[in-house]
Amino acid sequence: MSDLQLSGIRKSYGSLDVIKGVDLDIKSGEFVVFVGPSGCGKSTLLRMIAGLEEITSGDLTIDGARMNDVDPSKRGIAMVFQSYALYPHMTVRENMGFALRFAGVAKAEIERRVGEAAKILELEPLLDRKPKQLSGGQRQRVAIGRAIVRHPKIFLFDEPLSNLDAELRVHMRIEIARLHKTLATTIVYVTHDQVEAMTLADKIVVMRGGVVEQVGSPLELYDDPANLFVAGFIGSPK
Ligand code: ADP
Ligand code: MG
Repeated sequence: MSDLQLSGIRKSYGSLDVIKGVDLDIKSGEFVVFVGPSGCGKSTLLRMIAGLEEITSGDLTIDGARMNDVDPSKRGIAMVFQSYALYPHMTVRENMGFALRFAGVAKAEIERRVGEAAKILELEPLLDRKPKQLSGGQRQRVAIGRAIVRHPKIFLFDEPLSNLDAELRVHMRIEIARLHKTLATTIVYVTHDQVEAMTLADKIVVMRGGVVEQVGSPLELYDDPANLFVAGFIGSPK
């Protein structure tokens, strides 16, 4: 678990300002959910936190240490994407261990961590299968497993459930809530699904056009939305 601070974060692509100054304090162990319409900058922000995108200006700190120029692999962060391409020719076990093997982790330690993640995600009976022998939900669990084996201090999820059907989304939502409790980890989660946000979040961050409109608990946002945009997005009657 780690604290995460964003202070005056900006991102521009040429003359296009995509993130226009974001300040945010995420506490160790918190489940923070970013919501907002398509194109408002949610993925860009996550990618900057992960180190996959350069920060134009502002400071990103983890447990008090400035991370702006720190290599992605050294930030203690793992990210789960919407399109979780698994390696088709590898088994579940190999898919989950691959990043560790690449990072030079010893074989016995890889086995141990893959076993541990498989247990948490109830993937143990499926370890020798190939991705095409799995259901959508099982594949998504493998994608999460690939992140868990890295023992990250912070998990980033970018719309991880949006490719699943409605029933499976509900199921996976419960799985992710359980995961947060089991691993006692900091989670930053992006979604455009209000129900997902309201049920998973300790804290919701509502974004629009590269700025944060409001930050609060689901109840705070519902009871006291800062403006009509937030009210509309959260679904409260204001
Ligand atoms: P969201 O995830 O909220 O849908 P994104 O972070 O993907 O939004 O995108 C925010 C804005 O930044 C969009 O207008 C998008 O077109 C723009 N954008 C994202 N990546 C790039 C890029 N590599 N070059 C130029 N513009 C980009
Ligand atoms: Mg996005």
